[in-house]
Amino acid sequence: MLLKHAVPRWQHISPLSQRRWATQTSQQPFPPAINEWSHPPSNATISDEEIYRLAAKPRRPLTLADLVRHGKPPLRDAALLSSANFTLSLLPSRLAHRIQALRNLPFIVVANPHVSKIYNNYLHSLSTLEPFYKKPIETIEEEIKFTDAMADLVRTHSNTIPTLAQGFLQCRKYIEPAEVTRFLDQHLRARIGTRLVAEQHLALHMASTGEAATHPPDPSHVGVIDLALRPADVVRQCEGFVAEVCELKYGVRPSLVIDGEVDAEFAHIPMHLEYIITELLKNAMRATIESGNEREAIEVTIASAPDVSTTKLDSLRKLSVTEANAFDFSQEGLDEYCSSPDVDVGPLNAAAPCITLRIRDRGGGIPPEALPNIWSYSFTTFDHEEAIEAADETGGSAGLNAISNSGTNQSSIAGLGYGLPLGRAYAEYFGGGIAVQSMYGWGTDVYLTLQGIGKMDDVKKSKNGFEE
Ligand code: ADP
Ligand code: MG
Repeated sequence: MLLKHAVPRWQHISPLSQRRWATQTSQQPFPPAINEWSHPPSNATISDEEIYRLAAKPRRPLTLADLVRHGKPPLRDAALLSSANFTLSLLPSRLAHRIQALRNLPFIVVANPHVSKIYNNYLHSLSTLEPFYKKPIETIEEEIKFTDAMADLVRTHSNTIPTLAQGFLQCRKYIEPAEVTRFLDQHLRARIGTRLVAEQHLALHMASTGEAATHPPDPSHVGVIDLALRPADVVRQCEGFVAEVCELKYGVRPSLVIDGEVDAEFAHIPMHLEYIITELLKNAMRATIESGNEREAIEVTIASAPDVSTTKLDSLRKLSVTEANAFDFSQEGLDEYCSSPDVDVGPLNAAAPCITLRIRDRGGGIPPEALPNIWSYSFTTFDHEEAIEAADETGGSAGLNAISNSGTNQSSIAGLGYGLPLGRAYAEYFGGGIAVQSMYGWGTDVYLTLQGIGKMDDVKKSKNGFEE
């Protein structure tokens, strides 16, 4: 049976009855049976049975090694097909699991227009994948169509974070803050992996077919991974952007010095590093300026663990198509892969480079009463009204870009309190972390640790990298 899904027509519910509903529903089982929901038109064609089936499948954590297993672009056709099938082996159950998680939110929350938009995006994306995952992709023509679907998926979900943030802000009367943090943490961490899988196939496809901006493909890149990423370069790039945001907002740009191992490089995902560093620099620059200490430079110190030897990095860079791991796409092969955390990651086991960055500011530190909350989504000491107004004026896009998912359009200095928790989620995804040390009255040190392409053991230790 084919059911249409969408969340209820919240628009017909007055705020008062929404509140009443919230109280009533807290005594009723959640979520209500799907057929009790009203169903505005939706283009999703996936059936409930299929969503349940997919959501019940085991999900295997993603490792950086998974992303390079098909080899270095340009990929031959067989490797490109293998990447497409690998991507398809992971995405449907991940999307279905997110749909289930959204359905498990209180009815009044999922009925919010912003949250329901995200819910419908997931249904839409899973529906567009359905024609592809029924049988393996065997021809390049099919692979091209699939890649188009991946591009659509990445586009559809690009504004998820600001949209969800706005939805949860509007629902804060109806749901406990701890529940919001739990949901968002799980959802956004899962999203990191899902996007990465899709973006990696897109990047491999483009680099292999000559559609990418750099042609021939940059030898230090395997899709979205840069095997020779220099943290110092990322810091300088993000500094330029954040300083400009400061100039617009406050009329000053704090200076920044980089010391330590400025030439260090490792294998990581530039997009992720840019997001984290932009957020940390925004916090440091805002505190520096607001405390009136803009003459004090922010200091970024880079350290790389002694075991980052060039030979290990060299062996990664030499990774070629012939070394790509063969992958068994039969159901048995997939089951085995999903249940075995110790999947052979070939030459990538060799290195676990680790980089630490310390971002030190003289911005006066964090007040003790704020400190316990800094890791909660939506906690901010920034003027809340200003952020919400900016978001509302532009239909939820401009002001909320502060928490967008890429490092390119985070155009507010602060606002919705997603910088630290989401930055930490990115860092932890591949076994790193963020620690904050505040000296109230003086300044703040933030330690960002990042694991490069590492050992499976290290990945297993990561908080959520192993969950989704
Ligand atoms: P936002 O920047 O949108 O407020 P964040 O999650 O980035 O959200 O930070 C949460 C809060 O933590 C900030 O509002 C601020 O009060 C505090 N904070 C974070 N970093 C610093 C810092 N370097 N110095 C002082 N306070 C900080
Ligand atoms: Mg911030």
